[in-house]
Amino acid sequence: MISTIASSQQAIALEEKHGAHNYHPLPVVLRKGEGVYLWDVENKRYYDFLSAYSAVNQGHCHPRIVDALKQQADTLTLTSRAFHNDVLGVYEEYITSYFNYHKVLPMNTGVEAVETAIKLSRKWGYEEKGVEPNQAKIVVCEQNFHGRTTTVISFSTDPLAHNNYGPYTPGFVLIPYNDLEALNEVLQDPNVVAFLVEPIQGEAGVNVPDDGYLAGAASLCQQNNVLLVADEVQTGIARTGRMLACDYEQVRPDILILGKALSGGTYPVSAVLADDLIMKVMRPGQHGSTFGGNPIAARVAMAALDVIKDESLTDNAARMGDLFRERMNTLVQRSELAAEVRGKGLLNALLINDSPQSDTAWNICLRLKENGLLAKPTHGNIIRFAPPLIITEEQLLACCDIIEKSIDGISTTR
Ligand code: PLP
Repeated sequence: MISTIASSQQAIALEEKHGAHNYHPLPVVLRKGEGVYLWDVENKRYYDFLSAYSAVNQGHCHPRIVDALKQQADTLTLTSRAFHNDVLGVYEEYITSYFNYHKVLPMNTGVEAVETAIKLSRKWGYEEKGVEPNQAKIVVCEQNFHGRTTTVISFSTDPLAHNNYGPYTPGFVLIPYNDLEALNEVLQDPNVVAFLVEPIQGEAGVNVPDDGYLAGAASLCQQNNVLLVADEVQTGIARTGRMLACDYEQVRPDILILGKALSGGTYPVSAVLADDLIMKVMRPGQHGSTFGGNPIAARVAMAALDVIKDESLTDNAARMGDLFRERMNTLVQRSELAAEVRGKGLLNALLINDSPQSDTAWNICLRLKENGLLAKPTHGNIIRFAPPLIITEEQLLACCDIIEKSIDGISTTR
């Protein structure tokens, strides 16, 4: 039996009864998306200020991306990598020239690409750097978020993500984020093969490191023959107002990890990019995925990346982001609930002046929803604001009005 959904309540009840409770969604049931807008089952329209955690950078159901998906779905969907297909090579040529790397290794979800980068770094460490078997270490940062697999949550410092999933994968060294001295110290260990880092920590609440952090990290890695692995799954593909957040400091990571907006949110597509000196360690049979690099994913990714350039979404994200922070800074000045706005481009967060254990940020998000804007708290008292990058100035200003009205509704002014 397949149920017909007549109301939001009914849809929520079905999820409650039949689905694992591994998420705590806002009580809204969406049925349609177009551009910056989402509609719920009752036909109420909202601005999307999450963009599926920065996957829908190009806007919901972008016609060019959806057309690419439909056309390829009608032609050839999956061959596995047991055979060649006539799209994969075209895609590999396209994405490697787009991001200026020799090679790409296609995967599906963000965390699979992170796992791939971890395996690639370790293998490079043993086969190229000369690390003794099983001694390789990868340096990671406190408050990281790189996904949900057993290995990746082994080095998470978030108890919700980490606890009770042991035994954990060894070989990771935690240091504080945004701390070059700590990095320099751990890099003295010759068994360190890679430094895995988010250029901005998205899930942790949009933690923006100091200017010069990435460039400093890149130079320390280079001095110590350690790979710089940038996880740009959330920050990449124009989100922060540059094609890659690393571009702000002219840093070219040794291994670049992309996901999410690589498909504009239409399909799980991720990728690991590196030069031959590193990628050559992956030989037939040593790594793979049934769906990785499938023809639909390849077509969708090319369309999604075309849209970013053709619609100048990098510039728009930079301009709209400046405008957003300017408006939110005036709110921070006068509202006792808004403590700080931070971010780059259209990856921003508003800190709510209350403890992470309080439900203030959640209540603000409920109010935002009532007022027609969808956003979600991260880590209790931080609200991430990340609309699709196609948002116009008029739409953005209307959204700032909604945010101000919603916060003013519960705050007393200073
Ligand atoms: N890396 C970063 C920086 C992320 O933000 C995320 C997801 O939020 C991931 C990896 C994992 O991506 P996925 O959920 O597609 O596995």
